[in-house]
Amino acid sequence: MGLLDALGSVSKGASDKAKNLSEANNLKRKILYEEERIVEIFTDIGKKYYKNPDGETSELKTLCDDIDQRRRRIKKMRYELNGIRGYKICPKCDAEVNERFQFCGRCGARLPDIEDEDFLSLEPNDYYTESSNNFFNADSNQNY
Ligand SMILES: [Zn+2]
Repeated sequence: MGLLDALGSVSKGASDKAKNLSEANNLKRKILYEEERIVEIFTDIGKKYYKNPDGETSELKTLCDDIDQRRRRIKKMRYELNGIRGYKICPKCDAEVNERFQFCGRCGARLPDIEDEDFLSLEPNDYYTESSNNFFNADSNQNY
């Protein structure tokens, strides 16, 4: 391998890293955007319902569907983001597991794969936003 080739492969490695970094930042920005939109839509739903509690609910349903679509987008982007970092997140115990593994080393749960038919199915509390998840958790913990 000539010197120029060697230099070429070094800078290629560096540019791959830079590419991953900018891809990761890009994904993080998009996730944040979706999370902010979801909070806005929740507010919108609340306002619409408050103004007209006995009114037509199909409009609210459309907004709820919009939220679910954005949650699926977030789920996919989080998966891609973790892939860039080389790991999967266990859906049961939140452990970081090497992306080559199919099962969690800590709790044994099956790790989701983007190829799965049900990959985009949503758990009730997953993938709203960090802050609204806290909101929901706080809500459901009120009775203890
Ligand atoms: Zn686990």
